[in-house]
Amino acid sequence: MAGVKLIMPNSSQLEELVEKVRNKGYKLTEQRRDIIETLLKYCEEHFTAEELHRRVREINPEIGLSTIYRNMELLSELGIVKKLNFAENEARYELVISGGHHHHMICLHCGKIIEFSSDYLEKLEEGLESSYNFEMLEHYIKLFGSCRECQH
Ligand SMILES: [Zn+2]
Ligand SMILES: [Zn+2]
Ligand SMILES: [Zn+2]
Repeated sequence: MAGVKLIMPNSSQLEELVEKVRNKGYKLTEQRRDIIETLLKYCEEHFTAEELHRRVREINPEIGLSTIYRNMELLSELGIVKKLNFAENEARYELVISGGHHHHMICLHCGKIIEFSSDYLEKLEEGLESSYNFEMLEHYIKLFGSCRECQH
């Protein structure tokens, strides 16, 4: 996957996420902590469960894929990760970091995921809410197509 950026987990961010899990009454198992730490380290990624599994095994070789699936379900219920469905059979997950509202462009050729945000779009979303008197809780905008490299 293109655009892999390694971000060293900043310990206060890690503690914040760990607190979130604890505050909801869940135990912080070692495996759960390793998963959260890995998500934070690769916070720009949109991993499938299997891709995440490979990464978590770098710090915890014992962890099984079913543990990853179970934890990702829990973490998305807790609002710590977002479960995303692109043009694939498998879901992808991304860490929810405050202030990070964005949308996605997905290249159908190489699978590259480009994140974007736009004030214009957010204004449009707000405008729609008020003209239809609709209270929006969540929305996803996905654009499918060809990235720059795949257009040749
Ligand atoms: Zn592409
Ligand atoms: Zn994203
Ligand atoms: Zn939006």
